[in-house]
Amino acid sequence: MRSQQTGDTGEWHRPMHVAIVGGGVMGAATAWFLARAHGVRVTVLERDASYARASSALSACAIRQQFSTAINIRLSQDSLAFYRRISTELAVGDDAPSIGLVEPGYLYLAASDAGAQVLRAQHALQAEYAVHTALLDPTALAQRFPWLSTDGLTLGSLGLSTATSGEGWFDGYAAMQAFRRAAVASGVHFVEEEATGFTVDGQGSAVRVTEVTARSGRVFPCDAVVIAAGAWSAAVSAPLGVTLPVHARKRDVFAFEADVDLRDAPLLIDPSGMWFRPELQRGQFLCGAPPRGDDADEMPLDQVDHGLFDDVIWPALAARVPAFDRLKVTSSWAGYYEMNDFDHNGLVGRLAPYGNAYTACGFSGHGLQQAPAVGRGLAELIVTGQYLTLDLSPLRVDRIAEGRPLREQNVI
Ligand SMILES: Cc1cc2nc3c(=O)[nH]c(=O)nc-3n(C[C@H](O)[C@H](O)[C@H](O)COP(=O)(O)OP(=O)(O)OC[C@H]3O[C@@H](n4cnc5c(N)ncnc54)[C@H](O)[C@@H]3O)c2cc1C
Repeated sequence: MRSQQTGDTGEWHRPMHVAIVGGGVMGAATAWFLARAHGVRVTVLERDASYARASSALSACAIRQQFSTAINIRLSQDSLAFYRRISTELAVGDDAPSIGLVEPGYLYLAASDAGAQVLRAQHALQAEYAVHTALLDPTALAQRFPWLSTDGLTLGSLGLSTATSGEGWFDGYAAMQAFRRAAVASGVHFVEEEATGFTVDGQGSAVRVTEVTARSGRVFPCDAVVIAAGAWSAAVSAPLGVTLPVHARKRDVFAFEADVDLRDAPLLIDPSGMWFRPELQRGQFLCGAPPRGDDADEMPLDQVDHGLFDDVIWPALAARVPAFDRLKVTSSWAGYYEMNDFDHNGLVGRLAPYGNAYTACGFSGHGLQQAPAVGRGLAELIVTGQYLTLDLSPLRVDRIAEGRPLREQNVI
């Protein structure tokens, strides 16, 4: 085990020990990078080993680079590269994980001149980062996707799969478990414990977290702590006196079948906000839409809004794809977006005023696709005090106190 230097004080510890609260994809990825790339001792406190309510187990698991901010584009680009080689990166002995990544692209549709202008502006930004998208007018859309009704459309933006970019979807639960398994193989200790508090030492700029306390009464000493508790990150950080604007917002997903073969179709984002994508099997699809009405915190996950499908999604589906006029809903589920109400972007970095407390949360529905690059960066920050590969400082938590939002327009 190498000696480690904490990023903020310059003190030497042998060996450094990091406690992570939350063992979803963010916690597991950060743990793996800390242990594997930096030789750090890591304990992950995960209160539910079944992950029944974890977002990482209830996601739609799609990945795109069609974002409106450079940092989100770069995060998903680097994470895509990782997911493409996940079977070698996270192999444990002969066990090479498979996440079934496919890359048919996202198809963003605009139905106004203003909407087309937004797609064009984002196309220019994405091109700066070698993200390849094709802008398609209604004629080109109809040629490329004969099943699509182009009524009212002004433009479409289709993500293309190239060496430097690609959009599609994968098995997010498998990705999370692959990180967890590889982390354990690298010496990370996962414990089924609920973190309820922290022991703090020092004052002013020297204040530090020295222990994580669990509901069971167990105490976990640490040199640094990471709060990666997804939609519950605000509650976990509250005992530290830190207020994070992260809320558990229910999002419903519906699976349906229709007698049409669109297995090569992209993930389509309709101007109405409705989205759908095909599954691997012929005639099987997933879809969703923004919630109706009051988007209250922590709505029960067992109460899927079936009226959303009947009143909003199905009409939009049938209008955009005439073959969806006849379909059958086969299942549905709900999970929580870990919504950052401040600016709908991830919060990554140190939690002031603590010298050794960090977070990775608030990804507002795009965390699975960013986890590899976030885990890599956060591990670098904790161990060296700086980002070495990709600068994640645009996502720093301090932007809230500074009143400087980093707005992402493309939140689905
Ligand atoms: C319906 C839906 C669709 C989505 N679609 C996409 C998509 O297409 N693409 C994409 O990239 N992302 C998508 N997301 C978002 C993505 O799933 C999340 O951003 C990501 O999974 C967040 O991972 P996480 O590890 O931060 O949170 P989680 O997976 O929720 O993990 C947090 C963990 O912390 C644990 N925890 C909480 N409190 C404590 C405590 N006190 N002590 C110990 N453990 C605790 C929880 O049990 C949980 O396991 C979607 C989410 C939903 C719900």
